[in-house]
Amino acid sequence: MAKITRKPAPRKAAVPKKKAKAATATPKSAKKSAPAKKALKATKPWTPAEVREVFSRFQQANPEPRGELEHVNPFTLLVAVVLSAQATDAGVNKATRALFEIADTPQKMLDLGEERLRDYIKTIGLYRTKARNVIALSAKLLSEFGGEVPRTRAEIESLPGAGRKTANVVLNMAFGEHTMAVDTHVFRVGNRTGLAPGKTPLEVELGLEKVIPAEFMLHAHHWLILHGRYTCLARKPRCEVCLINDLCRWPEKTV
Ligand code: SF4
Repeated sequence: MAKITRKPAPRKAAVPKKKAKAATATPKSAKKSAPAKKALKATKPWTPAEVREVFSRFQQANPEPRGELEHVNPFTLLVAVVLSAQATDAGVNKATRALFEIADTPQKMLDLGEERLRDYIKTIGLYRTKARNVIALSAKLLSEFGGEVPRTRAEIESLPGAGRKTANVVLNMAFGEHTMAVDTHVFRVGNRTGLAPGKTPLEVELGLEKVIPAEFMLHAHHWLILHGRYTCLARKPRCEVCLINDLCRWPEKTV
């Protein structure tokens, strides 16, 4: 396998210094100037060796990446992901810490009721709709899935408030499936680096699944989220400390 050399980048800088927006916000289109778009098209495709090198570096820097949404079981993970749409993980965690102490199963959530649930999550955007969805999904879990979070994408997506991204996060984090949840950060990194350019989250998801070697897929979602959240920032990417700055294809990178 071809050896890839790189310019040294200070590893300590890969450690997050400040928090950016939630990992679970809805992706906006990747904004690129016209020349940048043209240049990205013209960049040479990634070789399998280069892709492997990228994920080897992420793995070396952070062997066991963790999601930042707090949860205690698959049900609370599902609820946290549903609550996190257009909200920050930190904001969701602040609300769910107390909530999950008293309602960590579908039955307990139903017993709590929509009104009291609203009180717990009222600091989160769209909390009324989300409260309604969480109560409805809890009822459906009890009536159709024996009170357990189902293990297939179609079943998870059938739950109120849960879409493809929710299903991918739950399948990956709760059940160890090799899914790729594309949030705003993954969408941006996939496009900027050229690893998986796409106009929609689904295009980026399928592109990433195609190029990332299977051995990295379990953690790839978290590596890319963390990379986007703390290094490849939306407005001011920190290219000078980026672990993959020598491989990144973004024409506007600053190194
Ligand atoms: S070099 Fe810059 S644009 Fe490319 S991945 Fe790193 S931080 Fe993002």
